[in-house]
Order: sequence, then structure tokens, then C-alpha cells
Amino acid sequence: MSNLADARRRIADNVAEVRQRMAEAARRSGRTADDVLLVAVTKYVGVEIMRLLIDAGCLALGESRPQDLWAKADAIADMPVQWHMIGHLQRNKIRRTWPRLSWLHSVDSQRLLVALDREAAARSEPLPVLLEVNVSGDRDKTGFACDEVAALAHQLGQWPHLEIAGLMAMSALESNAESARQDFAQLRALRDALQPQCPPGIVLRHLSMGMSRDYEVAIEEGATMVRIGSALLEGVLA
Ligand SMILES: *Cc1c(COP(=O)(O)O)cnc(C)c1O
Repeated sequence: MSNLADARRRIADNVAEVRQRMAEAARRSGRTADDVLLVAVTKYVGVEIMRLLIDAGCLALGESRPQDLWAKADAIADMPVQWHMIGHLQRNKIRRTWPRLSWLHSVDSQRLLVALDREAAARSEPLPVLLEVNVSGDRDKTGFACDEVAALAHQLGQWPHLEIAGLMAMSALESNAESARQDFAQLRALRDALQPQCPPGIVLRHLSMGMSRDYEVAIEEGATMVRIGSALLEGVLA
């Protein structure tokens, strides 16, 4: 799309529609719109279009690659947005990513937990993080296996400088809404099973699950954060 004014209008309409659908799905799960955070995923667009998302009220933004997050965060450092890292974070990129970050959704190994905890201790600054679980068992996906994360539950006090606040997952790559529902229900069941085994002070209150193709189902199944990119950009992406 060549015309920025058209893009602005499309994005405002898309955001309104997604928020409406989120609110309806939240109601179906006995909650309200305020119970679910929309993380607008900006990985497909540059700074100009990203600003239109912000203007449309998206103040929680997500990126899956650290370098892109740095560049975009720095380009809009004056704006009141929160950054969510939703993709794999290499340990050697922790230090540069940290100051720009509000949430890390994608902790996918114990080694990363150790390194993050060390950084949090050095900075005396806790970072809320989620453990990424490969619920669908897709081979090329990152994340803990369900049994790995289950084995970890009683040890989560080992990283006291982090705020371990829940779980994150993606539905199977080849999923439809109903098979996605099973993946999401499985993540919620895993969280419910882990919570009683967690040391005191660790509350797994967040479930980050649901993308453009399946966010309504994810909310029905208990998502507290959805990560949405393409549905916000319909009619804008080539
Ligand atoms: C890209 C991405 C999303 C958003 O995907 P859409 O289908 O465009 O909504 C969500 N979560 C993660 C981890 C992603 O990498």
C-alpha cells in the first residue's frame, strides 16, 4: 500500500476489530477485555507502519528477533510503549536487550534462566519472564518439552532475581482452530498442575498463547496475553 493515510485507516479498523473479538472471547471465558493483553507483533513492518499501530492504541509491542527489537525500540524511545520479546534470545544478546524490555515470553532453556538471573542480580532489576513450552511437540520449535518444564517446577526458586510469571506456547504449525484449542488447553492444564509444585512466591498467572489465526480460541482457553501480527496489518502488508 502506497498511501500512508489509507494504511492508518486500515490499521485503526483492524485494531478495533481485533479488540472487539478479543472482548467477546474474554466474555465467553467469563472474563473482560481488560483481562487479556494485546501484544502487537511488529516483526513484519518498519518504523513508519509501527507508529500507526501505536497511534491506534497498541502500546505493548512484540518482536521475535533481538536486533529488530533494539532498532525499533530506539527509533521510538520517546513513546510510552512496552516491549515484549517473543522469540529466541541468545545469551550473548541479553545485556543489550534487557534495558529495552518489559517482558520476555520465550525462555526456552535452563541455561538462559541462569544467565537471565545473573543479569537481574547485577542490575537489581527483576524481569518478568514466561517459560516457553513446546506443547505441540513440533520438532523445529524451541521451548521446553512438557515433561522438562514439569520437572523444573519445584526448582523455580533457584532463580530468585527473575519474576517467573507463567507459560507461553504456540499451537502446532499445521493447526486449525480446534486442534489449536487442544494445545492451549494443554498449556493451561500444565500450568494448573505446576502451580502447586512451585516454591512460595512464584505465581504462574500468565498464559501467553494465541496468534492471528487462533487468538479467540486461545482466550476462550484462558490466555492472558495474545501475540498478534498479521491480523492487525490486513490490507497493509503486500
Ligand atoms: C510472528 C509471531 C506471532 C504473530 O503471528 P501472526 O500470525 O502474524 O499473528 C506470534 N508469536 C510469535 C512467537 C511469533 O513469532
